Amino acid sequence: MKIMVPVKRVVDYNVKVRVKSDNTGVELANIKMSMNPFDEIAVEEALRLKEAGSAEEITVVSVGPKAAQETIRTGLAMGADRGILVEHDGDSEPLAVAKILKGVIADESPDMVLLGKQAIDGDNNQTGQMLAQLMGWPQGTFASEVALADGSVNVTREVDGGLETVKLSLPAIVTTDLRLNEPRYASLPNIMKAKRKPIDEKTPADYGVDMAPRVTTLKVEEPPKREAGIIVETVEELVANLKEKGVI
Ligand code: AMP
Repeated sequence: MKIMVPVKRVVDYNVKVRVKSDNTGVELANIKMSMNPFDEIAVEEALRLKEAGSAEEITVVSVGPKAAQETIRTGLAMGADRGILVEHDGDSEPLAVAKILKGVIADESPDMVLLGKQAIDGDNNQTGQMLAQLMGWPQGTFASEVALADGSVNVTREVDGGLETVKLSLPAIVTTDLRLNEPRYASLPNIMKAKRKPIDEKTPADYGVDMAPRVTTLKVEEPPKREAGIIVETVEELVANLKEKGVI
């Protein structure tokens, strides 16, 4: 069984993003970038399936600038076997990424593609679903548990107010939710080993995909600043304050 894990290079989740002064987007110069957290969870799940003897090979794929090689190396240092970088500078929309992943699937024939449920930069939550549609494969989104059975995979999904378990025939698309697992840190020896693991380099043109954006961002704004709070001594004072502000 082969597992493919698409990993996106995004602004590190610890960074407090700043909106550019011209409101066209967020500041990316000199900002720490990391693997999208949900993709780390996807890599971890693939590794656990491999360690359980259910998978033989894990390939991590990234569509992004040359620097996305670092993101792939992170996946390789965690334990993935090979990487594929599809080099593209600038934004990549979910449909274009899904089309590229379709091309990679044609070359690699994975039995399962494990994606993050969403990339924390654009919060699109679309790529896995679009890929399932393009491939005509079953999908299990928002996975909090993944269990392989003979020729199929059971995915427990986090849905509003509970859990739903679905059975998908392989090959299938699975997207990871936060509670699926806790990703490991790469050890120093594994970081060194990862330097020797192969990364193939491709371009969107190799898969015949046009990356021209279909969506234009009109404006990006900071959320409104929160007003400072006040400390009240008594319940009466609290009620009076709330009345004054028209909250009650
Ligand atoms: P999105 O639909 O953009 O929220 O992304 C959902 C998931 O698709 C991510 O968690 C990744 O697994 C994958 N993905 C999105 N964009 C890329 C990209 N440029 N390169 C590799 N994987 C991606």
